[in-house]
Amino acid sequence: MSEAKRIDGKAFAAGLRARVGEAVAELKAAHGFTPGLAVVLVGDDPASQVYVRNKGKMTREAGMVSFEHKLPADTPEAEVIQLVETLNADPSVHGILCQLPLPSHIDEKKVVETIDPAKDVDGLTPVSAGRLILGQKGLVPCTPLGTVMLAKDQLGDLTGLHTVVIGRSILVGKPVAQLFLNENCTVTMAHSRTRDLAAVCRSADILVAAVGVPHLVQGSWVKPGACVLDVGINRVPAPEKGEGGTKLVGDVDFDAALPVAGSITPVPGGIGPMTIACLLRNTVEAACAMAGVPLPDVLN
Ligand code: NAD
Repeated sequence: MSEAKRIDGKAFAAGLRARVGEAVAELKAAHGFTPGLAVVLVGDDPASQVYVRNKGKMTREAGMVSFEHKLPADTPEAEVIQLVETLNADPSVHGILCQLPLPSHIDEKKVVETIDPAKDVDGLTPVSAGRLILGQKGLVPCTPLGTVMLAKDQLGDLTGLHTVVIGRSILVGKPVAQLFLNENCTVTMAHSRTRDLAAVCRSADILVAAVGVPHLVQGSWVKPGACVLDVGINRVPAPEKGEGGTKLVGDVDFDAALPVAGSITPVPGGIGPMTIACLLRNTVEAACAMAGVPLPDVLN
């Protein structure tokens, strides 16, 4: 039985980060500015700390400036908002990202809405979301952008293909569906109340799983030859790694889908690495827009 092509998101993301580095060098040489990304982390959530550390490292590796603001978990909301306002006003900062989730005493919506849409490299402000829906130029959420990039890299022109997105979150499901619509796909959004989810999924040429339920999508849910993009990241027990061992799995039963799909992203190493690469790309885009210069060709 033939196997699906394993989509190497790690390699694609490394290539994109290298192109970001080239663009940054070009901007410095031609226009004398260096894109800067500010990341705000409130509290000591271990996973968030790892993400922020990686973001800082990859930002510097791409030749950009990384501003890291680590605040204690009990920082008052007003202080976080004040910091975002300071970053909004700082001309050396072109992108602002608040690492979510924020501690429960802070209104995430209020903090995100304080970010200047011109610096909203996470694409989460209402202005960015509105621009995406209206088909206007703007900053697009990173994981959805990375998902569509991998689909286009695999399939080329996506016109007319049926994309089924499972999950309707603001962070992933809704923006990724909109991006596929912008690529002229026929898009179906499925979610926890969808009837006969398996049958809906079986009709997909491109199946995007953004749910957060380990191995929800079974092999029999996949249309033969489909492109399967697994956004889910779930930590599950892994007794094979000894007592208390864990591992990461996606929303798709990878082993079961492998003989059916045409191409498929693994977890880890699929969609995940695309998020930071797209964040860096968005920061360059924001910096170029602010400086009134075109995005270097290497990123188009
Ligand atoms: P979320 O919890 O906000 O949304 C999940 C969505 O799945 C909801 O819209 C819900 O309707 C739907 N859903 C829940 N149970 C379902 C079921 N049984 N059948 C069908 N639909 C169901 O989650 P999110 O923020 O969109 O994240 C989804 C997954 O993607 C998580 O595993 C998360 O860790 C992962 N994620 C990965 C990246 C990355 O960089 N690769 C980035 C963001 C999120």
